[in-house]
Amino acid sequence: MLRAPQRRLTVGAASVTMRTQGQDRGETVAGTKTVLVVEDEQILRETLAYNLGQEGYHVLSAADGRSAIDIARRERPDLIVLDLMLPQVDGFEVCRIIRQEMPVPILVLTARDSEIDTVLGLELGADEYVTKPFALRPLLARVKALLRRAEMTTDAHTPAEADVVFADFVLDRAGRRLRQGTREIPLTMKEYDLLAFLIVHKGQALSRDFLLEKVWGYDFVGNTRTVDVHIRWLREKIEQDPGDPRHIVTVRGVGYRFEDRLPPDARHHANLSTP
Ligand code: CA
Repeated sequence: MLRAPQRRLTVGAASVTMRTQGQDRGETVAGTKTVLVVEDEQILRETLAYNLGQEGYHVLSAADGRSAIDIARRERPDLIVLDLMLPQVDGFEVCRIIRQEMPVPILVLTARDSEIDTVLGLELGADEYVTKPFALRPLLARVKALLRRAEMTTDAHTPAEADVVFADFVLDRAGRRLRQGTREIPLTMKEYDLLAFLIVHKGQALSRDFLLEKVWGYDFVGNTRTVDVHIRWLREKIEQDPGDPRHIVTVRGVGYRFEDRLPPDARHHANLSTP
């Protein structure tokens, strides 16, 4: 199932940057996506990189967690394939750090079923996982699906979409950003998607299953705890008191509802509007 690289790939001590097909055709080729492969097992790393290259992606690779973070910061890949068991900084930590810094989709490689919950929701918020050992074709299909989903999410937010104002926040839908005054509140891709979806459906009680389907997609393999975790993260970012949320309200037995609930004294300068 796995095709081995047919040519010798240059492997550095800590990290590798491979020039593959996508790269040979030039970085300016429209639609060429950059995939970062993070895996310490050399054969597997090279096989993944080679086959992703054959699919037309520009492939970068890293053999340990520290260089993975460096490369991700420098190159801003479109997707990261991340093994969990890595030397120096492990994949859990890499995922946590990258999640805080950029909205890139992360596909995790895990050897243990027991890790899946952690990977997808509770702490890390990876977008997908594949358990080892894995067949190459389904993995390549998931890479493609994740990239397509990320692209669709971006396409769905054209510059024509108006900003949404609530309390002292501005949801900049063209730029997929959240601002509070002059300060930008950093949001991951999924946090943005979830917040935007809740806001667009303001006042409606939305079930966890519905949110999971609409924000994460039909083929997402995680469970509704993923929704709860992202809600918790969003509350930490937008609620004055995350323990007494005024925007993302829990609807008992159902899920969540977005509201523009404010303290009485602040009510006169609050509005939620889609101009
Ligand atoms: Ca490993």
